Amino acid sequence: MMDYLKYCLVLNLVLSSVSYAAPVAGRRLIKRKMQPHINVLIGKELESVLISGFDLKRKFHTNKSTKQFKGRKSIKFNCLGFANKNIGRLNKPLLLASLKSGTGLLTVNRNKYQGELLVVASHNESSCDLINQVPLESYLSSLLAKEMNSSWHVEALKAQAVAARSYAIHKIESQQVSRGYGYDVFYDLESSEKHQVAGSFLDTTRKTEFATRSTRGEVLVDNRGKLKPIFFHASCGGKTLKPSQVWANKVYGYKGVPCRYCLTNKKRRWNKEISQKRFNGFLRWAKRKGHLKKSLSVGQKSWSQVRIASDRFRNRQIRMYLGRKQFIIEKNHLRRYFGRVVMPSNFFKFVKTKHGYFAKGQGNGHGVGMCQVGAFALARRGWGYKKILAHYFPNFRLKKNY
Ligand SMILES: [Zn+2]
Repeated sequence: MMDYLKYCLVLNLVLSSVSYAAPVAGRRLIKRKMQPHINVLIGKELESVLISGFDLKRKFHTNKSTKQFKGRKSIKFNCLGFANKNIGRLNKPLLLASLKSGTGLLTVNRNKYQGELLVVASHNESSCDLINQVPLESYLSSLLAKEMNSSWHVEALKAQAVAARSYAIHKIESQQVSRGYGYDVFYDLESSEKHQVAGSFLDTTRKTEFATRSTRGEVLVDNRGKLKPIFFHASCGGKTLKPSQVWANKVYGYKGVPCRYCLTNKKRRWNKEISQKRFNGFLRWAKRKGHLKKSLSVGQKSWSQVRIASDRFRNRQIRMYLGRKQFIIEKNHLRRYFGRVVMPSNFFKFVKTKHGYFAKGQGNGHGVGMCQVGAFALARRGWGYKKILAHYFPNFRLKKNY
């Protein structure tokens, strides 16, 4: 207890002397032939952080002091206290401390992490973000168990390792997340479905480690040799999509390819009913966001008279008519509004019913890039990972980055 009080005192002293100049980012340039480290956001908006390990080494970045602790030790960071004292003074996230241990493993909430843990005070938030800085290949070995399944065929795991490595290195090199915020957020990607789901040390198995090691450094590049964001999803439902069919961004090199390999998946079909009232809520949202024609009046009560042009799975848009007026709805906007639970994929047919609408879909996920269930089925048929990747990314080739 005394130790902890003493620590809080030290932390407060250190933090009160913080300079609010732009924090030194310490970003990592990827040297060729060397394995990069990746910074993964593993916890956000935390009121406090408790990190445990053996022979901990703690560094405060605010005054560059380091301290070593012998034996087993837990260190708590009280983020709320810090923010209450300093709220409004930070205009960007601040790297407070980093920790590593003598054994190479650190524990947070019973999860074990390799590499270092970084504690960052959030921008204008009474909270901290927790970031794991880990060698990329270790990150991939644990990710395979989360993004696929460690019991899956090793060739499917290898294809996933290459896809996830390409995605991660593109994020590191482009600094896409920090550029999006306009300041350094100290991480390259989130461990969530938004980016890719990372595992912890205990998720790594011999098989995931083997799949990672045997594809070490391999990434997909376009025919100009450039790294691009390489996407993947659970199951496409019959055909993969190009990024521009789902999001606003165009990515050079992508091609939609047929995939009947995931159609044996029992969960491939889904049906969801959407009431007229909920659909009207969507229209109001779409109008507000500028996704609908300005001339379209969303306030009127004649929405139940809307007619819909016959829709097909492969259509990206739905044509609707209100009297003589035609308006277009993008399917990805419907999915964005209703969420992944109501609309598990972008591959669906939309029909009008007496009381509203019916979405009849196939697949799971955004549908862009590699279909994971399809890759698994192909690996079981004897396809190697290079052939699997060439099927889903016909305009990309493999390159050994390190
Ligand atoms: Zn598929």
